[in-house]
Amino acid sequence: MKFRFLGTAAAEGFPAIFCRCSACETARRLRGKNIRTRAQVLINNDLLIDFSSDSYSHALQNGLCLDEVKYIFVTHSHLDHCAMVDLQMRGGAYAHEMKEPLVTVFGNEGVQKHYESIYEGMHPLIRVSYQFQSIKAYEKVQAGEYEIIPLPARHMPTETPFVYIIQYQGKKIFYCLDTGYPFEEVFDFLKQSGYCFDMVALDCTIVDNPCKETATHMNGELCIRTIERLRENGNINEKTKLFVTHFSHNGNPLQERLEEMFKPYNIAVAYDGLEVVL
Ligand SMILES: [Zn+2]
Ligand SMILES: [Zn+2]
Ligand SMILES: [Zn+2]
Repeated sequence: MKFRFLGTAAAEGFPAIFCRCSACETARRLRGKNIRTRAQVLINNDLLIDFSSDSYSHALQNGLCLDEVKYIFVTHSHLDHCAMVDLQMRGGAYAHEMKEPLVTVFGNEGVQKHYESIYEGMHPLIRVSYQFQSIKAYEKVQAGEYEIIPLPARHMPTETPFVYIIQYQGKKIFYCLDTGYPFEEVFDFLKQSGYCFDMVALDCTIVDNPCKETATHMNGELCIRTIERLRENGNINEKTKLFVTHFSHNGNPLQERLEEMFKPYNIAVAYDGLEVVL
């Protein structure tokens, strides 16, 4: 199973598009792993998590043709995860000889609303290659060989945002963003599931700035606490690959600085283009 972090920044990107703060200026100068685009993940070649506003640049940067994607699981309707206007370029005169005839987009009610607004504007020839499947927290979804369980995230009051458990050929991933410190009911569900994850990716938007347990994102300290809880639950062991991702410029997320910060906890720092093989 291949898991590729395509984007590892929070909503504004890093460096942020209109920002002159010293962190953004340093990232502009150093470039490399310090350049972070909006969150998106590719699993194998056929499943995307989120369709961010940087999807096109992700395809370019990683030398990908996204015509093999069959499933798009969207976490929530914030712009940095759900910006589907480019889906209109899939078919008709815009794309030829695509490998997959049909893409299924999965999401909550907020994502569905956004999807429908894009779908409305599509040429009928392009519409036929899409369908939407509404999903609910705790209800397992089968997508080809993937088994996905959406869980509620502590992130926004206007819809139920999801974090995802992804299972594929015996491997299990917990993709835990965007979210604040997970709800107790989520920890309880995970404990009862008996799952031991091969990989966990956590929301670390706030980096080392102060952050309450009730906030809608996490900082490093809350990520470490989440990992401790997962360990107590038996959901991770010494073999689990742990990652933090989705960093805001306000936390100065220079790759070297973050690696130093998380090294003592055995947590790897995701960067754009990082591929993990499980
Ligand atoms: Zn986000
Ligand atoms: Zn900045
Ligand atoms: Zn968000």
